[in-house]
Amino acid sequence: MNKKADKEKIESVTPEEEVVLTSLRAKAWDEFYGQKHVKDALRVAIDAAKKRKESIEHILLYGPPGLGKTTLAHLIAKEMGVNIRITSGPAIERAGDLASILTNLEKGDILFIDEIHRLNTVVEETLYPAMEDYALDIVIGKGPSARTLRLDLPQFTIIGATTRVGLLSAPLRDRFGVVHRLEFYFPEELEIIVLRAAKKLKIFIDKASAKEIAKRGRGTPRIALKLLKRARDVAQVHGDGKVTADITKQALDMLKVDTMGLDSADQRLLMAIIEKHSGGPVGIETIASTIAEDVGTIEEVVEPYLLQIGFIKRTPRGRTVTKAAYDHFGKEFPHGDKSQQRLL
Ligand code: ADP
Repeated sequence: MNKKADKEKIESVTPEEEVVLTSLRAKAWDEFYGQKHVKDALRVAIDAAKKRKESIEHILLYGPPGLGKTTLAHLIAKEMGVNIRITSGPAIERAGDLASILTNLEKGDILFIDEIHRLNTVVEETLYPAMEDYALDIVIGKGPSARTLRLDLPQFTIIGATTRVGLLSAPLRDRFGVVHRLEFYFPEELEIIVLRAAKKLKIFIDKASAKEIAKRGRGTPRIALKLLKRARDVAQVHGDGKVTADITKQALDMLKVDTMGLDSADQRLLMAIIEKHSGGPVGIETIASTIAEDVGTIEEVVEPYLLQIGFIKRTPRGRTVTKAAYDHFGKEFPHGDKSQQRLL
């Protein structure tokens, strides 16, 4: 993912905040709220594997950042009673790196690979036999005298996480027995997540404020929790430590999060299409250069939520901003009903 946008949008979290967010990570299966169909399906896979006394099948979790993929991987390991090792696609540079990680696993262990779509081809190809046959083919020597040595591995499970499942090669995707997409959370779900986190952090927050934070949390626990944390800061500096409606409003204004939970990156994208491209349709590359953002970040971080709330649409000729978005910004929709129907 693009580092700049990462910083601006999701990861505008200081190291100290990251510690708080990590400490908030659900420690037990029941503490993970929402994503019911994913949890139910994983529960079955976990129970079945336990019954067979085997390691759980390889699992692929995908969806926008901050929805709980890493947290779920930790919880699966906990439920299975096994160790989890964390790495990421770009961190495994050579086949040798992968070999050393895999040969150090114990039977049943889970290897969590974040951003698995960023594995390079050589590493990916080394991973195929490892996932399928629990074996590693290592090439020793070079040229005509090169030999392949097969190393047996303990039974293990890969949990892959990605924000861009479309970038995964078909052979890699096919090697995952269980594939789940995580969805954005409903405001009611985020409200419960916020209230539970507040309790853990011993933050006093009234129900109306929790509701407001949930509404503006962009359907994403990580963002809602970040807003809660910032509201607590404002409460400690400008109030008596309690997160109330007034304090919440100050914190949200400070963070430039609007009433729909849109942050500055969302607003910039929508306004660019509205003001510079007459509402679209406009191609993603053009949008990217208009707002000096990278295409991947727009596709994996910014766009999914805007599509979800119906503020933009994908058409064969590019992205269009919908009437709902114009209404949100108090702007007149230029296309008229007829044109809108055509776009739909
Ligand atoms: P991802 O790996 O998808 O980017 P994480 O698992 O790192 O997301 O979650 C981001 C933050 O949100 C963590 O602090 C985690 O505790 C919290 N979180 C995510 N999903 C939930 C949930 N369903 N219930 C409670 N907290 C959650």
